[in-house]
Amino acid sequence: MSSWPGDSIGVVGGGIVGLAIAREISNRYQGVGVTVFEKEDQVASHQSGHNSGVVHAGVYYQPNSLKGRLCRRGAGLLREYCQERGVRYRELGKLVVASAEKELSALDDIEKRALLNGVPGVRRVGSKEMEDIEPYVRGVSALYSPSTASVDYRGVCEALGEEIRGMEGEVRLNTPVTGLRETVTGVEVCSADQRWIFDRVIVCGGLYGDRLARLAGGLGELRTIPFRGEYYMLRSEVSHRVRGMIYPVPDPRYSFLGIHLTRNISDEVHVGPNAVFALALEGYRRRDIDFNDLRLMLSWPGTWRLVRRNWQHGSSELLSSLSKTLYVRQVRRYLADIETSDLISPSSGVRAQAVDRSGNLVDDFVLQEEGRILLVRNAPSPAATSSLAIAEYVVSLSSKP
Ligand SMILES: Cc1cc2nc3c(=O)[nH]c(=O)nc-3n(C[C@H](O)[C@H](O)[C@H](O)COP(=O)(O)OP(=O)(O)OC[C@H]3O[C@@H](n4cnc5c(N)ncnc54)[C@H](O)[C@@H]3O)c2cc1C
Repeated sequence: MSSWPGDSIGVVGGGIVGLAIAREISNRYQGVGVTVFEKEDQVASHQSGHNSGVVHAGVYYQPNSLKGRLCRRGAGLLREYCQERGVRYRELGKLVVASAEKELSALDDIEKRALLNGVPGVRRVGSKEMEDIEPYVRGVSALYSPSTASVDYRGVCEALGEEIRGMEGEVRLNTPVTGLRETVTGVEVCSADQRWIFDRVIVCGGLYGDRLARLAGGLGELRTIPFRGEYYMLRSEVSHRVRGMIYPVPDPRYSFLGIHLTRNISDEVHVGPNAVFALALEGYRRRDIDFNDLRLMLSWPGTWRLVRRNWQHGSSELLSSLSKTLYVRQVRRYLADIETSDLISPSSGVRAQAVDRSGNLVDDFVLQEEGRILLVRNAPSPAATSSLAIAEYVVSLSSKP
């Protein structure tokens, strides 16, 4: 029945990418035993449960990149999946707003990409139509993507976990993988007190990608750098000023999209995230420092090159992290009447972003094969949107003879 290379598969990481891959294997190949290992006591404990909750329509990405292809396919699959499984999903639409003439050429470039990517219904709107869509927005022009949606990613992960269990797979929570080694016949996976052997292992460790790659013997030419993204909530009295999603025109030099406003699935409006270098892999708070994590990050030449080249931008992001007034100033460019006191309930997420030796932020998704171990080395945004398509892609690659 199965053409999958092996009868037992281990997946390290119970975030949306690991769960989607495990579910895809279980679904496609009956009789293949799949076990997901997750170090925390619930799925989606890191990036997949601490993000903006946006289903990206594929507006920004290089048309021939994996991101460009898998985001479009993934958004469609996710929409169907949420319908089937009763997970909350709302198509609210998004405006990418040029707040000044000087941003128009960057907006033109995004529009071209969106059209090449086949984003459904995407169109340019002038200031009058912009105000019909989002009455409080100020700008000279915008790109409107009506199919951009808001989703409950934790709900998606829980549904994936349930499905895996329903197909005789296992999701082992509270099980940090501490050893990963290819043997003559398979791959040995160890936790503190147990050991398993699989035919193949797929590693989707997010922020812990480097540590797991090192265990697998293939650290390679990338390092995962954590970038904290800080959010606020818009006070309910003013949240009617945002109907759907409002984004600035992003700086093309960075893969982050800039502080945006998103109405989430629970009808609250989130503001953020910024992007600040975190001093620990789980650096959710400014004061979180892990000297071991920091030593590994700083021993990578790419980190120094990245900092040297981007210190100006990095400093302004850091200042916006330290000063709410500066944070709000970024939002006021396109939503004029927001006050510092309108932003409440700070929270954060930490992005895992690969950086190469030259100090470039690696834009595309990256997979790395080490014998029978497949490592997902870079799965930044929109990997949550793309997760079901990433799963199809990984399984089709691994099924090739
Ligand atoms: C602030 C922020 C905003 C974002 N906004 C969006 C958005 O709106 N839309 C979108 O599409 N994407 C967004 N993203 C990106 C998206 O969340 C990630 O790309 C996606 O969640 C990556 O999923 P993952 O499974 O690779 O990683 P994770 O969700 O981080 O999962 C990795 C898992 O591996 C586990 N793990 C690590 N080491 C071990 C070990 N040794 N043993 C066992 N388990 C281990 C971790 O505990 C974790 O649960 C955002 C990300 C952030 C941080």
